[in-house]
Amino acid sequence: MQTKETAFDYDLFVIGAGSGGVRASRMAASFGKKVAIAEDRHLGGTCVNVGCVPKKLFVYAAHFHEEFEAAHGYGWSGGQSQFNWATLRANKDQEIQRLNAIYNDLLENSAVQVIYGNAKLVSPHKVVVNNQHYRAKHILIATGSAPFVPHFQGTNHIVTSTDMFYLKDLPHDAIVVGGGYIAVEFAGILAGLGVKVTQLYRGAMFLRGFDDEVRHFLAKEMEKKGIGIKFHAEILAIEKTKTGRFMVTFKDGTVSETGLVLYATGRLPKTKNLGLESLGVALDRHGAIKVNHAFQSSVPSIYALGDVINRVTLTPVAIREAMILTQNLYGNTHQQMDYDNIPTAVFSTPSIGTVGHSEESARKTYDKIQVFRSEFRPMKFTLSGGAEKAFIKLIVDAATDKVVGAHMVGADAAEIIQGIGIALKAGAKKADFDATIGIHPTSAEEFVTMRQPS
Ligand code: NDP
Repeated sequence: MQTKETAFDYDLFVIGAGSGGVRASRMAASFGKKVAIAEDRHLGGTCVNVGCVPKKLFVYAAHFHEEFEAAHGYGWSGGQSQFNWATLRANKDQEIQRLNAIYNDLLENSAVQVIYGNAKLVSPHKVVVNNQHYRAKHILIATGSAPFVPHFQGTNHIVTSTDMFYLKDLPHDAIVVGGGYIAVEFAGILAGLGVKVTQLYRGAMFLRGFDDEVRHFLAKEMEKKGIGIKFHAEILAIEKTKTGRFMVTFKDGTVSETGLVLYATGRLPKTKNLGLESLGVALDRHGAIKVNHAFQSSVPSIYALGDVINRVTLTPVAIREAMILTQNLYGNTHQQMDYDNIPTAVFSTPSIGTVGHSEESARKTYDKIQVFRSEFRPMKFTLSGGAEKAFIKLIVDAATDKVVGAHMVGADAAEIIQGIGIALKAGAKKADFDATIGIHPTSAEEFVTMRQPS
């Protein structure tokens, strides 16, 4: 007779081979567990296929435009530069295929069984894929998220960030709707690639939740680069014209024609058609799976992490959640995920890097804070004549001298803030920043040379 333990086909069955799911399955396998992972689209999930990775490649592509111009001030001259969208898209596709293959190898070499197909839960320990039933001791849902688009007349005429990676042609002009990461990033990408862009945001200032000065600074810099930004603006309806363009009617009654409307109005957890409701897996009002500190859902054998739990929807966070889950499940540890001081970047033009409190949230958290700020013209733009400026800001808890927030808008902000993030995680004080010798000449040295709070 089989024991209960051996009645399972797998110790862990993971649904979704994105950043979190792949890491969890490989880690579980490294503990000697029998693991399968089901995926119905592409290995690597949103980040590798229609998110972080191809987006960053597009960001690189978009920056060449300014680099060519800046080069003149440094003595370089050359022929007229031309951009070919089809080449970028094809080269990007090739790179993503290479990464898909690497993911496949990583999983196979870890002895994780990859099952292609749509997975559905049929019991707390059973999953069905392609009509085949699999029994697993634990099931992990890491299905990620998908773009959310509000419903209005003409919704069918818009594209989402997913579509942007496969566009057949680049339009001459475009409207980008939304005020989050994806909207500001694509506004910059499209503008850099030569598209005339207007970004619409429904509120008074985009990037809600980021430091106010950072938000205003970025808006100003984007406008300098020719990106049109309209706040308090929303679309009422879109109609397709005879020439294949789009007639957009705004809620204030105005009308405008454009070649493309990109909606980047948030993402929703992918929890539909997984069989969750019938098993009693509790979801929140956004459809995210509710989990406890151990990533366990209301059904004890079912776990979830990453975008589908809608806590902090960033790839490195999903990866860390997967490490913690698998080490706790199979390595006898009792770790808890620490969501404090997660550094993050918006690959806007120019980029934002940020870690810790905004000034607004620090004011609510601490009795007294000190704010140090610096706005300057990076050295690179002296000879190129570029108008771009950079902005750096530190927020310090006056009682302890601890740096509780660090923000930057400017070239390489993501690269710089990664290091500053370590300092904040280690509890660095402003005195530690002051005692650090700067690297000259850099923009980053401003972080250790700001002496006077303002
Ligand atoms: P966000 O949640 O960041 O932003 C959504 C934006 O859409 C907000 O500005 C929101 O406005 C607006 N919005 C929501 N609903 C509507 C509506 N009905 N009409 C008009 N505007 C609306 O979502 P994104 O799609 O930009 O990105 C999703 C997540 O993916 C990010 O939060 C981030 O976690 C992750 N990501 C990370 C990146 C990075 O690390 N660089 C890059 C891209 C994505 P309001 O503020 O008023 O609610």
